[in-house]
Amino acid sequence: MSVDVGAARMSADLYVGGAWIEGGAGRLDNVDPGNGRTVGAVSLATAAQVDDAITAAVDAFPAWSALSGTARGDILRRAAALLVDRTEEAVATILLETGKTEADARGEIGRAAETLRWNGEQAGRVQATAFPGVVAGSRRTSVPTPLGAVAVITAWNFPAVLATRKLGAALAAGCAVVFKASEFAPATARLVVELLAEAGLPAGVVNLVFGDPQAVSAQLTSSQRIKALSFTGSTAVGKALAAQAAPNLIRTVLELGGHAPVLVMDDADVDHVIATTAGAKFGSAGQSCVAPSRYFVHESRYQEFVDKLTAKASSYVLGHGTEDGVTLGAVAHQGRVDALVRLAQDATEHGGTVTTGGHQVRRDGFYFAPTVVAGLPLDADAAILSEEPFGPIATVSAFSTLDEAIDAANAAPFAFAAYLFTDRLSVRDHVVRRLNASNLGINQLAPSLPDVPLGGLGNSGYGYEGGIEGILAFTQLRLVSETPG
Ligand code: NAD
Repeated sequence: MSVDVGAARMSADLYVGGAWIEGGAGRLDNVDPGNGRTVGAVSLATAAQVDDAITAAVDAFPAWSALSGTARGDILRRAAALLVDRTEEAVATILLETGKTEADARGEIGRAAETLRWNGEQAGRVQATAFPGVVAGSRRTSVPTPLGAVAVITAWNFPAVLATRKLGAALAAGCAVVFKASEFAPATARLVVELLAEAGLPAGVVNLVFGDPQAVSAQLTSSQRIKALSFTGSTAVGKALAAQAAPNLIRTVLELGGHAPVLVMDDADVDHVIATTAGAKFGSAGQSCVAPSRYFVHESRYQEFVDKLTAKASSYVLGHGTEDGVTLGAVAHQGRVDALVRLAQDATEHGGTVTTGGHQVRRDGFYFAPTVVAGLPLDADAAILSEEPFGPIATVSAFSTLDEAIDAANAAPFAFAAYLFTDRLSVRDHVVRRLNASNLGINQLAPSLPDVPLGGLGNSGYGYEGGIEGILAFTQLRLVSETPG
């Protein structure tokens, strides 16, 4: 397979009320992190254009929510089919604006299509629940009712999956949307919205905007006309948005950062652990909220583990996703490279040893060498143990007792993905009870598939995305108690 980058259109305008329009606040370059070159531009909205987007969503909501769930779902399923038809264009688009490898980009497009399809299938199945009445002959019904016009704001790192998770659920629920996608991956968001429009989405039901993130989000969260905010991004921005949304009591779902621990017990098969988790660690250059980032390994297997993970990390071939044989892509921008260099350096100052990598790779684009930091004490005050690294870097620390490992894992303020490798049932039960995690993979990964609800705890956010719960997040359960008149 190879990627036909000629298939990709890398610029994005705004989509407001069913029309593609140029933003009035200028344009930003869309830069390919794989080589640092400008591949397109993103149009930025003025406050008046964001207001138009809100108005379009508010106006479109009554007719959209009045359609049957099945009719709404048909549009989502058609959009899924269109995305499959246009896989090559979508893969090229993602690859060029995120720095992913071809395999990562293909995997993401497959998942995004599956997400649209699944939400499309569920749209007709969002059910009211009947309860017996309290008086003979009466009845009570709990009816999921769409909230209205909602705002969704997404991160750049999985631009297709994040767009389809949020838009799929909001549209299945019957909401209309103002979608503020990341300015770092605008063309993929534009493509998803284009496909929804081609699939028959009525004008105004989804409105796509880009702009000054702080100003746009402040405008959305201060509008009485926006009924919910679903955000995926960093913890710092999520906290700021939660505070902005609070005065209006705008309902929020926050999918924030992660810092996944991996507990490797003495009975684990080290080769299996590495083969299973390396793809999640180094895929998308480690820029994933579920990426394993802190390995805690029983002391009896520690050295074997360090040696094998170091060998695995060293085996990756860095480069642009269009080059043959590349297995590790770029990070988002120079700021990420600098942050990763700082984390590696700080770790060595706190007792860690960099066994491979630890530096920027000098070539066009933004590359950080796959890195393993071994030997940090469990209670080290190193930034990398508490700060989401969001890059191709992992720590490996030795433990002697299970509780010591769990305490170390729980010391980071995140609670999203976590992994455990052992065959012992008693250990699994203990870890399920004590480990702060909301997505635990035992002897396997913990993928965020469309059919299951998933949400964070602590600095990883709150609320659920995925599953029926993800659709219900865009509804109010309206209770109707009736007695025949
Ligand atoms: P980010 O927080 O910088 O940006 C996310 C979105 O918020 C973008 O649309 C951006 O334009 C906007 N934004 C940025 N600064 C803002 C501000 N000051 N005010 C308002 N909006 C602002 O995050 P990112 O770099 O795009 O994505 C990486 C982060 O997202 C990581 O922390 C990662 O773990 C997290 N993430 C979480 C999940 C999940 O499911 N929990 C999934 C993917 C990514």
